[in-house]
Amino acid sequence: MHKNGAAVMCTARLKAGRWELSYYAIEAGSAQWMRIRRNGLAYLLEHGALDPSAPAGAVRDTKCTCRKVHAPTEAQALRFLDRARLKHLLRDTGKVEERVYRCPADARRWHMTSQAQRSTKEAWTAVARPQ
Ligand SMILES: [Zn+2]
Repeated sequence: MHKNGAAVMCTARLKAGRWELSYYAIEAGSAQWMRIRRNGLAYLLEHGALDPSAPAGAVRDTKCTCRKVHAPTEAQALRFLDRARLKHLLRDTGKVEERVYRCPADARRWHMTSQAQRSTKEAWTAVARPQ
């Protein structure tokens, strides 16, 4: 993650016995992950923005079926969490959101939950499995 909030991500998928790597980036404050080429990673981490001369495609598909509020990065999800907790303080809205977690179906989504962390093994593993 860049200090301005921009982030990059790499995923690996086993395809015909070989790992196929994909690279993604999101600019600060944006809700849109972009698929980029590998050499775009260094540019984003250095400049905090996408290389305007490099090809990038918006990622619109998702395997998330959670039907929950979602944020594209942990940093943005934590801001949602702050807002939800403030709202809870101002008028008691029942359940209080406790933490954010990465969607088990889509690494580009973060959700909030009112449940405490169950274990440290709850880490995100879904996409690491070959498909
Ligand atoms: Zn989800």
